[in-house]
Amino acid sequence: MIIKPKVRGFICINAHPAGCAANVQEQIDYVKSQGPVADGPKNVLVIGASTGYGLASRITAAFGCQAKTMGVFFEKAPTERKTASAGFYNSAAFEAAAKEAGLYSKSFNGDAFSHEMKAKVIEAIKADMGQVDLVVYSLASPRRTDPDSGETYSSVLKPIGEGYTAKNLNTDTLKIADITVEPAVEEEIQATVNVMGGQDWELWMQALAQADVLAPGCKTSAYTYLGDKLTWPIYGKATIGKAKEDLDRAAVAIRERFSSQNVEAYVSVLKAVVTQSSSAIPVMPLYMSILFKVMKEEGTHEGCIEQLYRLFTECLYTDSPRIDDDQRLRVDEKELSPQTQASVEAVWPEVTEDNLFELTDYKTYNAEFLRLFGFGVDGVDYEADTSPLVEASFLS
Ligand code: NAD
Repeated sequence: MIIKPKVRGFICINAHPAGCAANVQEQIDYVKSQGPVADGPKNVLVIGASTGYGLASRITAAFGCQAKTMGVFFEKAPTERKTASAGFYNSAAFEAAAKEAGLYSKSFNGDAFSHEMKAKVIEAIKADMGQVDLVVYSLASPRRTDPDSGETYSSVLKPIGEGYTAKNLNTDTLKIADITVEPAVEEEIQATVNVMGGQDWELWMQALAQADVLAPGCKTSAYTYLGDKLTWPIYGKATIGKAKEDLDRAAVAIRERFSSQNVEAYVSVLKAVVTQSSSAIPVMPLYMSILFKVMKEEGTHEGCIEQLYRLFTECLYTDSPRIDDDQRLRVDEKELSPQTQASVEAVWPEVTEDNLFELTDYKTYNAEFLRLFGFGVDGVDYEADTSPLVEASFLS
């Protein structure tokens, strides 16, 4: 079939296998071009490994550190008539590249929140790795079923306390209009914390520790976004921000609980990048379109892989990590520099539909969005008859 993007609102419902593979290869090439990570991990588990920051973590661990990697994700397989989700193609491409490079990799496609998945992964670690020395927790999900109570929680993207009205870019119509988001009720705040907070990260670490598959001195990191004034009302000081605060609590709890094994638990603060999750957050597409223009002009523009390579080399595997007073590793320092934020804030009130392409880099935002699904990637023949079926030996 000829595969063209089918964009519906903030999501693209199909993906291009060759484009996704080319994206993965570009990230691998980037890491190789940067050179090996000194004293990196050897056996790595990445939870949420198929797209965005988790995929970049896995690529950095494998191709920057020559680590064995195990990845967990939740992706749709292809059929003869329907493409897979992008993360499925990404992971198939990652596995093929790892195999070719002689690097061990194993992937699990299923619900990381369940006890069953944790048990299966632990068995595989025991059999193939013995112990892991890095656990990356990079899940982003709209819902989670609590494995003990069976209750399913849905997260919401809402402010807390007061409603919030802000400029928003509709990426379907390219219209800019104010949107008003009503404040979350207490139950919604709690549900968002249950989905995106630290509970499941703790459950993973507990299960791994109990099975004795954490190497002494094992590091673990979950990822967060802090942002600044423009995004605080919908992110930092909103429901998702509350969930992210819970990660800080979990990091302390993990450190204390597994101190005898010297487990180092961190929340790492990463910059705003286009991923399937971030494009769904109101305000973010417009904010990122402005941010990209400002950071490109400054020469500081970065995507997932650049961020992750720096997280490994400047924070996780160095004697002088960039760490803040709350023990969080910081790779968002360029985005949050006062000068960069001031430039973004100056543009924000001026943007209209008429000057969108002039004052912002929506072009890059949109191109990066389509690339998430394998579209618009250099060197890929989008007119070629392409089978959606791709071989993959994921476990489930
Ligand atoms: P993403 O949507 O690209 O990736 C989410 C991953 O989670 C995918 O691999 C997906 O398959 C997996 N997943 C979702 N539900 C699952 C389930 N039930 N079981 C197994 N796997 C599941 O998201 P992302 O933007 O890379 O986000 C990863 C983390 O980074 C999140 O904690 C996010 O808050 C954080 N972060 C993102 C940004 C950003 O701008 N995108 C910035 C800073 C921090």
